[in-house]
Amino acid sequence: MTDSHCHLGSHKFATSEIPELIERAQQNGISRMITLATSEEDLLTNLQLAQKYEPVFACLGIHPCDVHHTRDDFETLIEPHLNDPKIAAIGETGLDYFHPAPEGWSQHDYHARQRDFLRRHFQLAQKHGLNIVLHTRDKNGTASFDDCLEIYQEFHDSVRAVFHCFPGPFTLAEKVIALGGLVSFTGIATFKNAQTVTDTVQSCPPGSFMLETDSPYLSPTPHRGKRCEPGFTKYTAEKVAALREVTWNELEEETERTVCSFFRI
Ligand SMILES: [Zn+2]
Repeated sequence: MTDSHCHLGSHKFATSEIPELIERAQQNGISRMITLATSEEDLLTNLQLAQKYEPVFACLGIHPCDVHHTRDDFETLIEPHLNDPKIAAIGETGLDYFHPAPEGWSQHDYHARQRDFLRRHFQLAQKHGLNIVLHTRDKNGTASFDDCLEIYQEFHDSVRAVFHCFPGPFTLAEKVIALGGLVSFTGIATFKNAQTVTDTVQSCPPGSFMLETDSPYLSPTPHRGKRCEPGFTKYTAEKVAALREVTWNELEEETERTVCSFFRI
C-alpha cells in the first residue's frame, strides 16, 4: 500500500530518522510513499529523499500558503528537475482561503496570487505530462474548492488532479470524479464525528480515491494528536476497508492500481 501524500522534508522529521520511518512503514504494509514539497526551502530536500530512498517518490510545487514569499518565476525552481525519474507529480499546490492573508497582503491579492500560481502549476503539469496534487481549504463554504474546480476544468483534458485530504460530502467528490479527477482520504476517516468523510468513503466508486497520511500532520486514531508518519496509513486503510466492506488485499489492489496510474510509477 502507498502513502500517497506525506511531507518527509518537514522540519518535524530529522533527516537521520528517515530510514527508520521507511522501515516502520514497511512493517505496517506501507511499501511506498509520495513526499510533497511545499516551498522554495523544501523542494530540494524532497527531491533528494526520493533520489536516495527507493520506496520514496517526490512531487514538486509551491503550497498556496507559501506563495507570498516565493519568487514570481517559481517555475525556474521546479522545471529543471521534472525529468528526474523519481518525480511523481506536480504539487502541493491549490487554494487556501482558511488562513488569513500574511502581513502586508490584502486578502484579495493573496488569493489572486494563489490562483495565478495554481494555474501556472497546471501549465507545468500539462507541459511535462504530469498529474497534479491539490489542496483546498475554506473557513466556511466551499469557495476555494469551487475556484479550484473551475481552474481544473480548463486543464482536465490533459491533466488529472487529486483533491487531497478530501473533507467534503460525496456530492462534491462527484464533481471531481466527473472531470476525471480523484480524491484522497487521511486519518480524518478514523476520527469519531467524521460522518461526512466516512459517507464519502463508502460512496466513492473503485478507482476514484487514494489513501494518505499528510504526515507529519493529522495522525489517525489511535495516535491522534501525536506526530503522524507514513506507516500510520495502515490505520486509515483498515478503517476504509471496513467502511467499504472489502479486505485489506482488495483495498490494496484497488488503490495501488489508482496510485500507479496517477503517479505514473
Ligand atoms: Zn500536504
